[in-house]
Amino acid sequence: MAKTIIIIGAGMGGMAAGIYGQLNGYRTRIFEMHTLPGGQCASWQRRGYTFDACIHHLMGCSPTTRINTLWQELGAMPRELVYPDECVSVLSPEGKLFNDYYDLERLHRHLLELAPADAAMINEYINAIKPFAKNDIWGEMMLGGPAVLLRALPHILPILKWFKPTMAQVGRRFSDPFLQRAFPLLAYSMPQIPFAFHLGRHGYGMMGDIAWPVGAAEEFAASMARRYTELGGEIHYRCKVVKILTRANRAVGVRLADGTEAYGEVIISNADGRKTLLELLEGRFMNKQLEGYCREPEDETNCAVQVFLGVSRDLSREPSSLILLLPEAVTIAGYQASSLEMQMYGLDRSMAPEGKGVIKVELFSRYSYWKELAKDRARYEAEKEKVAGQVLDILERYYTGIKNQVEVVDVPTLLTWERFMGGTHGFVNMPSKKPDFLASLFKHGDMLLPGLDNFYFVGIWATSAGALFINAHSGKKAIKLICKKDGRPFTSAS
Ligand SMILES: Cc1cc2nc3c(=O)[nH]c(=O)nc-3n(C[C@H](O)[C@H](O)[C@H](O)COP(=O)(O)OP(=O)(O)OC[C@H]3O[C@@H](n4cnc5c(N)ncnc54)[C@H](O)[C@@H]3O)c2cc1C
Repeated sequence: MAKTIIIIGAGMGGMAAGIYGQLNGYRTRIFEMHTLPGGQCASWQRRGYTFDACIHHLMGCSPTTRINTLWQELGAMPRELVYPDECVSVLSPEGKLFNDYYDLERLHRHLLELAPADAAMINEYINAIKPFAKNDIWGEMMLGGPAVLLRALPHILPILKWFKPTMAQVGRRFSDPFLQRAFPLLAYSMPQIPFAFHLGRHGYGMMGDIAWPVGAAEEFAASMARRYTELGGEIHYRCKVVKILTRANRAVGVRLADGTEAYGEVIISNADGRKTLLELLEGRFMNKQLEGYCREPEDETNCAVQVFLGVSRDLSREPSSLILLLPEAVTIAGYQASSLEMQMYGLDRSMAPEGKGVIKVELFSRYSYWKELAKDRARYEAEKEKVAGQVLDILERYYTGIKNQVEVVDVPTLLTWERFMGGTHGFVNMPSKKPDFLASLFKHGDMLLPGLDNFYFVGIWATSAGALFINAHSGKKAIKLICKKDGRPFTSAS
């Protein structure tokens, strides 16, 4: 009889583990606490508008890349996609617009018009992008395994130098004041991000590998859930796992919040790692390193609030990913903002009624700020309303009349994420765990637990990386390990 694999959570890692588990002849069952699949890959509807909390840049859209093959195996590709012309845009208070066009000739011309005195730096930027657009570098580095990585070294070695400088450091090399201010923000308004991250995104966009999935995150996740159930997998929604059952240092089952128990030969957790270790396993399988990872997280500034607006305004000509530079800093949700990171979804007509559009503004703030407010529900709700009002006041300066065009407002915070998917400090999920890229490529240590057999982690705790494809790939890796242990060949074919 086929072994049963129990999976906690229907995020990217959990669903991928389920799909590859089914493909390899196991019986798999996913227990998901929410009413929907996808975890962080989330969007929802409000009065005819679709609000997407997750996808900025979906990688794996070109049939030539390894990421696309992964999505095809998982039932998420092919699908309807929209390809924006630019990776990201930045608008100054004076109305200067920098479009980071994927097309390099167009980008070159545009940058020279904006800042002719920076010709040398502009050339350097354009030349730095090129190697990222030639080969499937992320696929080779993250999905291929050691042998592929070795073969890809000639592509990878020339780009390694770009992992050192940050966006801020590169931005300072422009002499034009607008570009000096705009450039460091190009990678999700995080100037501390390595330049290579942005170059990779730009390069993949040029190759046609980055696009917008029509129907947004919910539909993307739903396509994987459909693939899973078509292969015979079972997803049980509204089923929160409260305990992982063990016997003689083997994981043997789970207990749900209603007291029901389910048993299997293998248990995979796609849930938050810290909560899996401290709550579901009651801290019984720890070592020094894990204790470090699980310590009370620092109260870091994060993208803690999103303001969604459904507006009666045509956004089809607006850039899909825009950073607004503010004329002066404004304190919003306890954070001094000098720019606003936003997405406008005019590119996907399915997300709003005819002629209308959706805007998302992402704000930095702290988890503790909202946690404190939530002690008094009325204060928490009032602050959300205030934040939305501040955002609208700013937008009105750039988009005259928009305040009166707002039909729907929705403001999720990190506490909203926590309520729906149980992460530590919202979606952060690994706040005290430092990413170890090489270890995740060559070792599987973070997928396993000391002293507990038949247990695997998938998802962000195992990968330390916030990307849909990397976390989906962790589910594939887990099933490969299980197949190897069982002495059976792994297959990704139906
Ligand atoms: C705001 C934001 C923007 C992002 N933008 C992008 C982007 O543009 N491109 C990109 O590639 N990636 C993006 N990401 C990253 C990507 O969404 C995540 O890395 C990925 O979805 C995480 O997958 P995961 O496998 O770790 O599972 P998670 O998404 O963490 O899912 C875990 C699942 O487990 C369930 N669960 C938890 N505890 C229990 C329990 N006790 N019992 C039952 N079920 C449980 C949860 O409800 C959830 O469904 C973004 C993430 C965020 C938050």
